[in-house]
Amino acid sequence: MSTIQYQLNKDIPVIAEADVLVIGGGPGGLGASVMAARMGAKVILVERYGILGGMSAQGEVSPFMPSHLSRKNEEGKDKLYTLDRPVYTDWVSKMNTYYPPELRKVCEENVEAVVAKVSKEISSLAIEDLCLEAGVKIIYHHTLADVKMDDDGHITEAIFLSKSGFVAIRAKAFVDSTGDGDLSVLAGAPSEFGGESGYCQPMTSCFKIKDIDISRIPPNEELQKRYLEAKEKGEIKCPRENLLIFESLDKNTRHFNTTRIVMKSAVNGMELSEAELEGHRQVKEIFKWFRDTIPGYENASLQSFASHVGIRESRRIRGLNYITKNDFMNAAKFDDAIARCNYTIDIHNPLGTGTEIIRMDRTDFYEIPYGCIVPQNVKNLTVGSRCISVDHALHSSCRIMPTVVSIGQAAGAAAAMSAKSGTDVSALDGKDVRRELVKMGALL
Ligand SMILES: Cc1cc2nc3c(=O)[nH]c(=O)nc-3n(C[C@H](O)[C@H](O)[C@H](O)COP(=O)(O)OP(=O)(O)OC[C@H]3O[C@@H](n4cnc5c(N)ncnc54)[C@H](O)[C@@H]3O)c2cc1C
Repeated sequence: MSTIQYQLNKDIPVIAEADVLVIGGGPGGLGASVMAARMGAKVILVERYGILGGMSAQGEVSPFMPSHLSRKNEEGKDKLYTLDRPVYTDWVSKMNTYYPPELRKVCEENVEAVVAKVSKEISSLAIEDLCLEAGVKIIYHHTLADVKMDDDGHITEAIFLSKSGFVAIRAKAFVDSTGDGDLSVLAGAPSEFGGESGYCQPMTSCFKIKDIDISRIPPNEELQKRYLEAKEKGEIKCPRENLLIFESLDKNTRHFNTTRIVMKSAVNGMELSEAELEGHRQVKEIFKWFRDTIPGYENASLQSFASHVGIRESRRIRGLNYITKNDFMNAAKFDDAIARCNYTIDIHNPLGTGTEIIRMDRTDFYEIPYGCIVPQNVKNLTVGSRCISVDHALHSSCRIMPTVVSIGQAAGAAAAMSAKSGTDVSALDGKDVRRELVKMGALL
C-alpha cells in the first residue's frame, strides 16, 4: 500500500470540559456515565452516531443474555437473581416504561430474572432517559479521532471529528466505552486480537422479519433441516451451522441472529466495509429464502436490519491484570472484583461453522478484578466496554450486555473517584472501587 505524508497543524477549539469523559454510548457507556454522574462527577458522554445503545441499537442485538445466580429464597425455592445491578436493572426497568402493558407486567414482577427482549428504539431511548436523569451531558455525532497526552502518561484532551471539523474535549479522567478500545489504543495502551487462529469471533448483521403467520411456521427441527438443505444446494451461502432465531417484542415478528461474516477485522476500515456488504448480502438472501419457501412467511416483509454490522470481538486492551478461561473454569474470585458473571463461554467459530459452548453452574460465578479495566501505560483511563483485559475465551462470556453494563459502571465509578480525589485511576486500590460500587447498589 502506498502512503502519503500528511500533517494536521490547526488550532482546535476546546468545546467542553468534564470531570469524566466517556466515549461510546453502548451498554458499557451507559454503565460508565450513569454511575460516574450518580457519584457526583460532571460527566460528558460522546457518541459517534445519533442514538445511544451501541450493539443493542445500531447492531439490532436482542435479547439480554442472562447472567443469573440461582439461590434459595425465603421459602426455600430456587430463584434467579441477576448479577448485574444497579444500572443494568435500571435499564431494564426504564425500557419497561415503553413496553405494552402485558409485557410490562412480566418485567415489573421479575426485573431480577427477566431475559428482556430488546428493540433498538426502546433500548436507545431508555439509555438516553437514564443519562439525562443522572445529569450526564450527551454529545452526539462526534467521532473520536485522536488524543493529546502529557509527558506523564495522562490523556489531557480527546479530539473528535464532527460537522464542525476537529474539536477537543478536556477531562480529568477518561473512560473507553468504544467497544473496540479506540481510545485506549490512541493513548498508547497495548492490545490483543483474536484467538489461536489469529481471528476474532465472526460478525453478524441481525435483522427482523415481520407479518409472519406464526401458527403456520414449521417446527424448529424441520426449519433447521430445510436451512441445511438450502445451504447444500447453494441457495444460501452462510457459514453458520443453524438458524438462530429469537422471539421479538413485536407481534408476528422474529429476530434473526443468523448471518455470519468471518475473518474480517472490525478495526480495519476497509475490512469493516466489506463485512457490512457481506452482512447485507446474507440478510437479503436469507430473508427472500424465508419469504419464498417457508410456510407462514409468504406475506412477511423485512422489518429492520442492523445499521452497523454486529461486532462480537475486536481488540482486547491489555490491563494491569489479565484473566483467562481457567478463571472461568475455576469460578475465580478476587478481593478487588468489580463485576461478576456466569454466562456461558460462547465462541462462534472465527473461521466458519460451529459454536463452542461451555456452561457454568447457575449457583456460582467468576469475578473480574479491577486491573482488567485499567489499561497499561495510561494513568487516567479505564475501560468500560467489552474490550477488557481477558483472553479470547473469557471475552466470549463477559461480552454480554448485562455484564458489560457492570464493567462500565465500575469504570465510571473509578473515574469519578479519581476525578474527586486527584489520584490516578491506575493508582486506585481496586478494593476501594469495589466498596464504592457496593455502596451504590452493586452486587459484589
Ligand atoms: C451479533 C451479536 C449478537 C449478540 N448477541 C447478544 C445477546 O443476545 N445478548 C447479549 O446480552 N449480548 C449479545 N451480544 C454482545 C453485546 O451486544 C456486546 O458485547 C455489547 O453491546 C458491547 O457493549 P459495548 O458498550 O462494549 O460496545 P458497543 O455495544 O459496541 O457500543 C460501543 C459504542 O461506542 C460508539 N463508538 C465506537 N467507536 C467510537 C468512536 N471512535 N467515537 C465515538 N463513539 C464510538 C459506538 O457507536 C457505540 O455506540 C451480541 C453481539 C453481537 C455483535
